Amino acid sequence: MPILRTPARRLRRAGAYAAVLLLAGCGRGAPRSSATPAGAGLRPSILLVTLDTTRADAIGPGARGVETPAFDALAARGRRFTQAYATVPETLPSHTSMMTGLYAGGHGVHENGRRLSDRTPLLAERLRGAGYRTAAFVSTFTLARRFGLARGFDVYDDQLPAGAVERSSRDTTDAALALLDRRAGTPLFLWVHYNDPHAPYEPPEPYRSRYVGHPYLGEVAAMDAQLGRLVAAFARDVPEPRAIVVVADHGEGLGDHGEPQHGYLLYQSTVHVPLVLAGPGVAAGATDTPVSTRRIFFTVLDWAGLGAAHSLRADDADPVLAEAMKPFLEFGWQPQTMIVSGSRKAILAGKVQEIYDLAADPGEMHDLEATATLPAAVRTALWDYPVPSLAAAAQNLPPLGAEDRQKLASLGYVSGGATPIVRKDAPRPADMTQLFEPIGEADGLFVAGRYAKAAPLLAKILSDDPQNLGVALQLAASYSALGQNAQAEATFRKAAAMAPDSPDVRLYLALHEARGPGWEQAAPLLEQVLASAPDRLPAVEALATIRERQGRASDAIALWQRAFALRSPSAPELVHLGDLEMGVGATEPAIAAFERARALDPGGFGRDLDLGVLYLAAHRFADARGALDRVPASDPRYPMALFKRAQVSVLLHEADAAARIAAARAHADASTRPLIAREKLFEAVGARN
Ligand SMILES: [Zn+2]
Repeated sequence: MPILRTPARRLRRAGAYAAVLLLAGCGRGAPRSSATPAGAGLRPSILLVTLDTTRADAIGPGARGVETPAFDALAARGRRFTQAYATVPETLPSHTSMMTGLYAGGHGVHENGRRLSDRTPLLAERLRGAGYRTAAFVSTFTLARRFGLARGFDVYDDQLPAGAVERSSRDTTDAALALLDRRAGTPLFLWVHYNDPHAPYEPPEPYRSRYVGHPYLGEVAAMDAQLGRLVAAFARDVPEPRAIVVVADHGEGLGDHGEPQHGYLLYQSTVHVPLVLAGPGVAAGATDTPVSTRRIFFTVLDWAGLGAAHSLRADDADPVLAEAMKPFLEFGWQPQTMIVSGSRKAILAGKVQEIYDLAADPGEMHDLEATATLPAAVRTALWDYPVPSLAAAAQNLPPLGAEDRQKLASLGYVSGGATPIVRKDAPRPADMTQLFEPIGEADGLFVAGRYAKAAPLLAKILSDDPQNLGVALQLAASYSALGQNAQAEATFRKAAAMAPDSPDVRLYLALHEARGPGWEQAAPLLEQVLASAPDRLPAVEALATIRERQGRASDAIALWQRAFALRSPSAPELVHLGDLEMGVGATEPAIAAFERARALDPGGFGRDLDLGVLYLAAHRFADARGALDRVPASDPRYPMALFKRAQVSVLLHEADAAARIAAARAHADASTRPLIAREKLFEAVGARN
C-alpha cells in the first residue's frame, strides 16, 4: 500500500460521503425550500460574525479566566453549539467552507495564500441573487479580496492601516457601523470578521492591564466588547426580522500538544470552536450534537428561504470532518484528517490513527487506538476523505509578490515557494512539533530578505528534516544571496537529488546563476520554468532583468508587463518600464507607464519633462502643456522644458507663444540653443509678430 493515500482510490470508495464532501453547496439550481422562513414570511437580515483564532474554551459561558458578556448574552437568547468544529484550523480555508458549504476537499483551498476558484459558488452570490444587500468587513490580509471570497458582496472592505497586516476590531466595527442604516424592505447580509486574538497577543487598554499574564484572553475580551457594539447597532439600525451567527474560524494551540499557534495539527485547541445562532426558527438553549461550521452556509440559505438541507436550525447529526494539509502541502509531511462522531474523535495522519473519547478526555491525553474501534461508516468517512495531490494544490496559488509573501509570513504562515516531493520518510506532523516555531521564524526571515539570520536556522531545520525540499531551497537561496557560493551549490545539489524534476529546483538554481558572473546561463533555465509555469513571478522578473542586461529591450518590456499583470508595480518600477518603452519608441505604452507612476506617487514623480515630450510626440498638445507646466524651475533640464513648452504654445496657438519663445531663448543652454535656432515653428511666430 502506498504511503500516501491516493485521491483516485479515495474518490472511488467515497460513496455517500463524497457527496457531502464535494458536492454539497454546489446546488446553485437546487429547488427552493417549500418551508416559509420564520418571521411572518419576511426574510431576516443576517449578521455573520467570525472570530479569528478563538478557542471554544476562551469565550462564552464556561470560559475560565475571561469575561465575554456580549457572547454570553447571545448564547443566553440563542442556540449554542458546544461541539462545533472548523473544517481546517486556518483562516482562509475555514472561512471558505463557511462561504461555500464545502469541506476543503471540495473547495480546494487547503491553506492560506491560495485562491478560491472563480467557478465555486459563494454564499454572498446566492443571497445577492435573491435580493439581499451584501457587505463584508474583514480584518486580516489573509482574507484580502485577492484570495477569492469577495464575489457576491456589494461592499468588501478589506482596508488595513498602511503597512499593517490586520486591523483592530474597533476599527472594523467603526467601518461596519458606518454602513448600517434602516433601509426597510431590503434584507441585509453582513459579514464582519475580527482578528484580535491572532498572534501577536497585544490587547489594548484596559484589557492589557486587566489580563496581565494572559494577553491572549485580553485580546478575546477586547474583541467581545466590539462584538457587543456591533450586535447592539445591528439591533438598533436594522429592521426586524434579524438573525445572527457568531463563530470562530479556528482556535489556538497555546502550547497544547506542542503547538503554539494553529494550522499544523487537529487537536481540540485549534479545531473545536465556539458557535452561537440567534434568529427566526432557532430554539434557545445548548446542543452537544457535533456540527461542522461549513453548515453555516446552509443555515444562512435556510433563513433566506433558499433551501433547508443541512441547516443548523435542525441540529441533526452529520459527519463532522476536518483536515490539516498545510504540513503535507508545504513540507511533504503526512496528510491529516479528522472525524468527530458522538463523543468519539479520530485523527488520521498517513496510516497512523488516534482515537479519543472527548467526553471523558477532552484534552486528548489518552489515545484509545489500541483498544477502541470506530463504527465502520465513521472509519470509512475518515479514511476516504480525499487527500489533495501535490500538483493540484500548486495550481490555485495566486501569484504573490515579495511584499505579499512578507505579509503572510508576518502573520505566521509559511508562504510556500516550492511544491514538496512525495516522501517515503514523510513524518507525522505531531512528531515534528519542535520544528513548528523555527520553520515559521526562518520563513519570515527568508521572505524579509534577512538571509544571514535565516541560513543557520534553515540549516538546523534541514538537519532535523533532511528531505524537506522547501527548506533546502530556501537555505540554498540564502547562501546564494550571501555570496557563499560553494555552500549554495552543495545545497542545490542536495535539493536536486531530492527532486530531480522539480521546476522549483530549476527556478532557485536559475535565480542563483542570475546573481553571479554566469548570469546569462540562467536564461534558458528560466525559460524552461516559464514554459511549465508561466505565472511564476520570480522567474518572470529574473528573466526580465537578464534581457535588459543583454540589451534585449523589447523582450524585457514584455516580461516586465507580464510581471506587473501578476503583481502591483511600484512607482519607480513603472518609471523604469516607461524608460525602456521610450527607448524603443513605444510612445503610447511609455505614456501609460509614466501616467500610472504619477498617479501612484504624484509628489515623487520627477519625470514631467519626459511625459510632456511623449505627449508632444503623440500630438496630445494640451496634455503636453499640463505636464511641461509642472516641471519646476529647479529642474536641471528646465531649459529643455521651456523649449518644449514654447513648441506646444505655438501648436496650441496660444496668445503668449512669442513670449514663451523669448523665455526659451533667454534661458537656453548648450542642449537647447541649437534646437531653438533650427526650430521652424518659431520662425513662423517670428514672422507673425
Ligand atoms: Zn484564522
